[in-house]
Amino acid sequence: MAWDFCSDSDFQTQLDWMEQFVAEELIPLEPILGELNASQWAAIMNPLKEKVKARGLWACHLEKELGGQGMGQLALAQMNLITGRCAFAQEIFGNMAPDSGNAELLAEGGTEEQKERWLWPNLRGDLRSAFAITEPWVAGTDPTQIQTHAHLDGDEWVINGRKWMITNASIADFIIFMVVTDPDAAPHRRCSMLVVEKGTPGMSITRDIPTMHHPTCEFGQIGNHAEIMLDNVRIPAANVIGEPGGGFVLSQVRLGPGRIHHATRWLAEAERAFDMMCERTLSRSSFGKSYAKHGMVQEYIADSRIELESARLLTLRTAWQMDRIGHRAARAEIAMVKVNNAKVLYNVVDRSLQVHGSLGYSADMPLEHMYRAARMAPLVDGANEVHKISIAKEQLKGYQAVEGWPSEHIPTRRQLALERFSTLLESV
Ligand SMILES: Cc1cc2nc3c(=O)[nH]c(=O)nc-3n(C[C@H](O)[C@H](O)[C@H](O)COP(=O)(O)OP(=O)(O)OC[C@H]3O[C@@H](n4cnc5c(N)ncnc54)[C@H](O)[C@@H]3O)c2cc1C
Repeated sequence: MAWDFCSDSDFQTQLDWMEQFVAEELIPLEPILGELNASQWAAIMNPLKEKVKARGLWACHLEKELGGQGMGQLALAQMNLITGRCAFAQEIFGNMAPDSGNAELLAEGGTEEQKERWLWPNLRGDLRSAFAITEPWVAGTDPTQIQTHAHLDGDEWVINGRKWMITNASIADFIIFMVVTDPDAAPHRRCSMLVVEKGTPGMSITRDIPTMHHPTCEFGQIGNHAEIMLDNVRIPAANVIGEPGGGFVLSQVRLGPGRIHHATRWLAEAERAFDMMCERTLSRSSFGKSYAKHGMVQEYIADSRIELESARLLTLRTAWQMDRIGHRAARAEIAMVKVNNAKVLYNVVDRSLQVHGSLGYSADMPLEHMYRAARMAPLVDGANEVHKISIAKEQLKGYQAVEGWPSEHIPTRRQLALERFSTLLESV
């Protein structure tokens, strides 16, 4: 019987190395990252990236032919449970969103020319990218409402519209836009993916939007979320990825696996908050006893551990399912992971902050920042409500309506039992 919760020893050696690398070489850098200029950043980051490459752990989310390791989702999940502890580890391991998803999209739908121009330089880290679906005037949860549109004029697409909350757009060398190209088609055949390069006339990155995560963001920083105006932007007809009208199908290639990768890293972040909570619990006392002996603090720790452990198992099992049946067939499980891990992250960070008291609320600890960032989890990568709708739909497929009483109705079942067993009952 094959049912095992252990990794094979070679892979475990890699995981152990990653754990040590993240703890000893990446996390210590965090407090000074914001102070680095571009050349200091490169001087620190590039040697770290080389170490990851030398270890064969670069861009592991990609298949071998794309320069990744082709390891599969279960291995990736175990790795994300480590790298998620540090906010910039994805950069060092070559799987930083949104570049990671854009690479998958170009790999799936791009022509050889498009791969040469955008995919390979993106994978090498020479070009940065962004991915733009969301718009301010229509619900991002329902992309059939997208208003930004493009039409062919000779051998050029002409694009008009507005996008917002687009991560890394202000530093991107190219942006993949989801826009309406055939307004008369069926809702899920209306959109296409078009690539617009930085500096194209008519495209203005008007601002980086301050958020709960970065309330005082400075324009042009990595991780910002930009607003973009598109005013008669002209790009070559060949800049469409895949076939015109294929935008929705392609977006699923990108969003399915990306969701579980992000949600797995949320668990790693929650583990870090959990570690802080336990350390603080053991380090302080009130009313004559250690926090460790206060029942309500014990409850915070126990509840957090139970939630983390359940979430980890659901996540790993879903990754295993993705390897077996593919991400489309495992979409309900991916939705469960997304919804659940968002909640676990929020709960654990919140409890840890509470146990730290005013220190937790202050910016002297990472918890207040983690708390603000955690608030995005239920609404990005598809709002939790929408994932719950698809989970419920999938569940209901296994059931049928009944006429009259429910099948568990006790008086009806009693009558059936009496009829079935009457001979036996009367004989004794
Ligand atoms: C930090 C951050 C980074 C982002 N990066 C990007 C990016 O790089 N590219 C990009 O394109 N977008 C990006 N987004 C946008 C994100 O994808 C959208 O915010 C998300 O899709 C929700 O769309 P919306 O904001 O328009 O909210 P809406 O669609 O208006 O939804 C708001 C709320 O309405 C409720 N709701 C909506 N539909 C339903 C329903 N069917 N049932 C029940 N309740 C419902 C839910 O409570 C939902 O949270 C980012 C957002 C954030 C916060």
